[in-house]
Amino acid sequence: RRRAVTDGWHGPAHTADGVNVELLANVADGDSAVAAAAAPVEGAGLFRTELGFLGAPTEPSVHDQAERYSAVLRAFGSRKVVVRTLDAGTDKPVPFASLPDEPNPALGVRGHRLTRAQPGLLSRQLDAIALASAEGPAPWVMAPMISTVDEAAEFAAQCRSRGLTPGVMVEVPAAALMADRFLEEVDFVSIGTNDLAQYTMAADRLSPELAPLTDPWQPAVLKLVAMTADAGQRAGKPVGVCGEAASDPILACVLVGLGVTSLSMAHLSVPSVGVQLAEVTLAQCRAAAQQALSAPTAAAAREAARAELTR
Ligand code: PEP
Ligand code: MG
Repeated sequence: RRRAVTDGWHGPAHTADGVNVELLANVADGDSAVAAAAAPVEGAGLFRTELGFLGAPTEPSVHDQAERYSAVLRAFGSRKVVVRTLDAGTDKPVPFASLPDEPNPALGVRGHRLTRAQPGLLSRQLDAIALASAEGPAPWVMAPMISTVDEAAEFAAQCRSRGLTPGVMVEVPAAALMADRFLEEVDFVSIGTNDLAQYTMAADRLSPELAPLTDPWQPAVLKLVAMTADAGQRAGKPVGVCGEAASDPILACVLVGLGVTSLSMAHLSVPSVGVQLAEVTLAQCRAAAQQALSAPTAAAAREAARAELTR
C-alpha cells in the first residue's frame, strides 16, 4: 500500500499544513542528472563533480570540464543546481589531484584544502562552471571541507568575480559552530551529514564496525545541524542538508523541524520523503526535533521522533 502511495507522488513536497520543503537530487554526471531530472525534484542539491574524474589521469581542460558541467545544467533546465567543487581525497581519490601520501587522509589535504598547494585546480574549475552556465541560469557553487571563515571568504570572492552564487558545505564541526560568521561571507550553506557525523564522532565513515557512531541520529550531530539551521534563519539564508540523513523519511521531518530549508538525496528516495512530509505538520516536525535534540542516544532520538510524528 505504501509503495502505491509513493508511486503516485508527484511533488512539490509540502507538510500537511502546506509548508513547502524543497526536495532536490544528488547527481554525479550528465546521465545521472537526466535520470534525476525526470523524478519529482525541484533541482539538484549536490552535484558531486569529483565523481566524474575518479578515472582521469590528467586534469580535463576547462573546455572539457565545461562540457561535463553543462550536461548536468541542461538536464535541469531552469531548475536549481548546486555544483560542488572538487572533493578529492580520502574516500574519493582523483588521480590528477595529486594527493600527498598521508597517515590520516580523512584529516589531511582533502576537498577544498587541495587548493592551498594547487590553487589553479579551483580557479580552472570555477572558470569551467562559469563557462558551462553562460547561457542558462547561474548555478550555485559550494566548496567541500571548509573549516575556517577565511577559506569561505576567499572562495566566495572567487565565485562572485565570475557571477556564481557562493556557498559552503558544513561538514566539519568548526563550520557548524561558526555558522553565523560563515553566513556573513556566503549566500547559503549545505550540511554534509556523512562527513559531519564522521568528524563530530571521530569515527571513520567507511568503517562498518563504527556505523552506530556515524549514525546521523546521534544527538551531538543533530545539535550541530540545529546550530547551523538557527544561524541560517537569523541570516535569512538557505540551509540545506545533502548527506544520507536527508533520505530517511522520519529524520527528514526532524531536519525540517530544526529549520533546514532543503533536502537533497538520491532521487529514488524523494517520493518516500515527500509522502512522509505530507502526513505531518510543521508543528509536529518541530516537536519531533526538540525530542530528538534532548534524547541521550541515537536510538532514543529516533524512537522519540517516530513517536511524535506518528501519534
Ligand atoms: C557528506 O559528507 O554528507 C556529503 C554530502 O558529501 P560526500 O558524501 O560526497 O562526502
Ligand atoms: Mg562530504
